[in-house]
Order: sequence, then structure tokens, then C-alpha cells
Amino acid sequence: MRAPKSFRLHIGIFGKRNAGKSSILNALTHQDVSIVSEVAGTTTDPVEKPMELLPLGPVLFIDTAGIDDTGDLGDKRVGKTRAVFDRTDLGIIVTNFSEWGEYEIQVMEEFKKREIAFVIAFNKTDKFSENLELTSELENLNIKYVFTSATEGTGILELRQLLLQTAPADFINRPSILADLVGPGEAAILVVPIDKEAPKGRLILPQVQSIRDLLDNDSFCMVVKERELRQALSIMNKPPKLIVTDSQAFLKVAADTPPEVPMTSFSILFARFQGDLPEMVRGAMAIDSLKTGDKILIAEACSHHPIGEDIGTVKIPRWLTQYVGGKLKIDSVRGHDFPQDISEYKLIIHCGACMWNRRAMLSRIIKARQAGVPITNYGLTIAFSLGIFERALKVFPAALEVYHSGQNNNQEPF
Ligand code: SF4
Repeated sequence: MRAPKSFRLHIGIFGKRNAGKSSILNALTHQDVSIVSEVAGTTTDPVEKPMELLPLGPVLFIDTAGIDDTGDLGDKRVGKTRAVFDRTDLGIIVTNFSEWGEYEIQVMEEFKKREIAFVIAFNKTDKFSENLELTSELENLNIKYVFTSATEGTGILELRQLLLQTAPADFINRPSILADLVGPGEAAILVVPIDKEAPKGRLILPQVQSIRDLLDNDSFCMVVKERELRQALSIMNKPPKLIVTDSQAFLKVAADTPPEVPMTSFSILFARFQGDLPEMVRGAMAIDSLKTGDKILIAEACSHHPIGEDIGTVKIPRWLTQYVGGKLKIDSVRGHDFPQDISEYKLIIHCGACMWNRRAMLSRIIKARQAGVPITNYGLTIAFSLGIFERALKVFPAALEVYHSGQNNNQEPF
């Protein structure tokens, strides 16, 4: 089975139209990935290509349309290209010595502002010779570059090497999902409701990833439906180290779990794994200050159509309305669509973003912070609205501390 997209290092390829981005991508992947033509701007949408970049492991190359496009279609392309910055872990600027200019400097500035590691590929070296002044300036700035000719196939190995050297350390040392909570030889119970919203014949990504994380850590794992939890506990000769449930079954699982056994949800695990748990705990505490008529943004990383009692469009709005005691104005967005201006919202509630890389989720958290809007996720919202917040956070002492200090100070948590 392929590595999920969220585990892959996302490498964004940026450059002017016809700088040779698609040719570089093809040379790196040894495949015809994007449409390459002599006509400037052939690539209209970001094209994604997963591959194994040994010894780094699974990566996702994202080939962008040129940011310097103009006109209507161009504007759309520019928007899509900008959104690629949000999920780029490592950037490549493709350019050549005759075209280097304001555009490349702007892309460099954007990378620096966002603290994204990047390298420069001076392409078409079969046509243009080195600008020594420019390369010595880049060396002074400690910016790494390489010479390539995608048509002659030169410099591609060096580019691969440079990408390996420049990959961000936090990609390599990514936090685990729950291996630090359930040690080798210890057991976890995962509670997975099989209702009509559950996809047919398979488990969803956070569940699969959690099972794999436990197995990698030599831990034991029992997977049950919520109705079988009591029985599962009764046949174990020792209580599990942790129970993890789908947030939608929180109340039933909380009722059936002995108080001394820690309990949390997949979604809360993913607030930590994909995002920033303390920040999202602060965000959930903003639910207490919501009033009738406040605007809320619910954002889901997948673009699937909601089925039945969908969590984002039906259940969370219902639980929140009950908690607040009046109607809220709720907007929903899906996929990579996200409003430019979020300042009108009193709270943003995000899904676990299991299909994304961590940087994409962190970008949204940073945007929310910059706009002064609290942000939280589904699991934390549900736990807060149902009154089991503290219990669901017990296994995360730092996050619990954030909650307690917010309460003790009796102040706006954000
Ligand atoms: S909606 Fe979010 S949490 Fe659910 S599967 Fe998609 S990315 Fe994962």
C-alpha cells in the first residue's frame, strides 16, 4: 500500500512560466507527469506526483502554474499557486541565468517569511552561462543552488542530493500519533463506530494510522465498536493504557469507560499530530464566549459530499447550538478553499486534516492567529460541548495545563 499523502514531504516547484518546472519534475521522477510544451503556461493546475526519494522516503512533488500569469485564467492559477505555499515543506525555484529577477526574489521572500526551506535550480545551463555575481551573492546569503539542464539530463542527481540535505528536520523527527502514550507491551482499545457514515469495507485514515503506530511501537491494539466496549474491557486481565474513540461516540464511551482509564479521541490525537494541541485547546475554550448570531467557520480538508448526519454540517452545528442556546451563523468550506478574510469569524473549527501534511494545517493555524480568530478542531469542539473536555485531555498534561490556566485566570482564552 502507498504511503498516505499526509506522510509525504511536500516539495513545491515554483518558477516563471516555461522556466522548465515540468521538465525538472519529469527528470526527477523519470516520468511524464505534467504537460510540457514550448507554449508558456501549459500547466494550468498544480500537478501532484507522489514518489519515493531515497533515502528520504515518500515525497509529494507539486508542480505549480506560473505565478506571473495574467488575465482571468491567470488569476485563478495565481490563487492556486499561492495556496501551494501553504502546504510546501520544501521549495524548489526553477529559473535560469537570463531570467532571474523580481519574481524569483519575491518567491524567495515568501519562503523566508514562512520559514520554508528551499533550493534554487538554475535550469537550461546548456543555453545560459553562470552569472558569477548572482551566485556569489546567493552563497553569501547561504542559499543553496544547483545547475541543471532538464533537456540534457544534467544536474538532476545533484538536485536530488540537495533536496535530501535541505529537507526540514521536523519531517524526519515527526511526533508519533500515540506511541508515546501507549508503550511497548501495553494495550490500547480503539473504538470505531460502524454506522452509515462509515465508508463501506474499510477503516478511515486516522484509525489505520493509529493501528500502524501502535504496531510500530510493539504495543497491543484491540479495535471494537462502541457497543462492544464494555465486553472488551471485561475480557482483559488488565485495564488498557488508553481508550481512543471516534469523537461521535464520546458520550457512550465516556459512560462505559472506568474513570481511572484515560480516554481521548482520534480527532484530539490529530490536533497534536497534525496541528498544535495547546493552541486548539485555547480555541475550543472560546466556545464559552459564543453568543447567538456569531459567525463560525467549519473547514474540512476533504472535498467529499456530506452523507446523512454528517459531523461537520449537521452534528457539530447541532451540539454547538444546544451549548450556546441560540442559532449561530455557520459557513462551511472544503478542500483547499479558505476565505481570504477570516476576521469576521468568532471561531474556526477544523477537521483532523489527516489527509494533509502538517504544514498545511499549521499554515491555517498561523492565519487564524494572525487574524485573532480562535481555531480548534472537531474532537475538541465535541468534547467541550458535551462536557467531557477535561477527561479527554488528561493524557496530555501540557494541554490540560492550558485549559486549567485559562479557567483559573477567568480570562478570554485567546
Ligand atoms: S475530512 Fe479531514 S479528518 Fe476527515 S478524512 Fe478528510 S482530512 Fe481526514
